[in-house]
Amino acid sequence: MNHERVEQLVRELLSEIGENPEREGLLKTPYRVARALEFLTSGYRTNVAEMINGAIFHQQTNSMVIAKNIELYSMCEHHMLPFYGRCHIGYIANGRVFGISKLARLVNLFSRQLQIQERLTEQIARCIKDTIEAEGVGVIIEARHLCMMMRGVEKQNSMMVTSSVLGSFHDSAATRNEFISLINHSCS
Ligand SMILES: [Zn+2]
Repeated sequence: MNHERVEQLVRELLSEIGENPEREGLLKTPYRVARALEFLTSGYRTNVAEMINGAIFHQQTNSMVIAKNIELYSMCEHHMLPFYGRCHIGYIANGRVFGISKLARLVNLFSRQLQIQERLTEQIARCIKDTIEAEGVGVIIEARHLCMMMRGVEKQNSMMVTSSVLGSFHDSAATRNEFISLINHSCS
């Protein structure tokens, strides 16, 4: 990302919306926006294989692995406004499992791009399935979209839920139901 160019574009944008980019409070804003954008879109510049490298372990198990309530922050590709929520992941391994922190990193990687929630859900599921050749994968994302809450229909409490099920999670209703009940189960 070319920071100077992005900073110039942000200065122009500020002028266009009726601001004065030279006033004191805004002087460093283009600098900050460029850095924030670089972080929020770092998924474009992160290599999945490199990120996962070294964090896949051999283990003979057929039990379902669940990682739930993974925080998620992304930006919608239609308005470049944030959507945020939680991601729940389940998979049944086929000889290989993920290191525990890697699932959260995968969520971050795909979230830090301009997204639609449906594709984000699908990409996370597909990546897990392909990377460890899992027998089955399920991903559920619950998220609130600022483009709906702050503008447009202004529905502050609406939550969008998307799911992607692959392999045995797709083929077997029993497996899918086990996934759903584990997601809903509370340990407290
Ligand atoms: Zn939007």
